Amino acid sequence: MAKRYAKDKQKQKEIARQRIRELFDQAKKMFSTDPKLSDRYVRLAKKLSMKYKVRIPQELRRRMCKHCLAYLVPDKTSQTRTKEGKVVIHCLRCGGIMRVPYLRERKARRKAQYDSNTT
Ligand SMILES: [Zn+2]
Repeated sequence: MAKRYAKDKQKQKEIARQRIRELFDQAKKMFSTDPKLSDRYVRLAKKLSMKYKVRIPQELRRRMCKHCLAYLVPDKTSQTRTKEGKVVIHCLRCGGIMRVPYLRERKARRKAQYDSNTT
């Protein structure tokens, strides 16, 4: 059991990443009918990422508030502005602000797209 641990951990991380994407998918689907459920999916995704120490992909991180973990929908629960080369996301639930460097973000998104095409 102990010897297999490292290998299992890798596999668990892979499953966790998959689960996180699925949870955000569900959050998106549920938002129109039950926004509270969307928030719950985001919280679950965050828990998974912490438990298995996997990163939430950049493009999905823009869809959640890092302060109150609400699921963010542009113009509904968040306002997105670009300012001085940065994307500023304003959470309308808690009033929290997140700043994402624009260039790095675009690069990350391209990479995420590449990753999802290859895996
Ligand atoms: Zn918030």
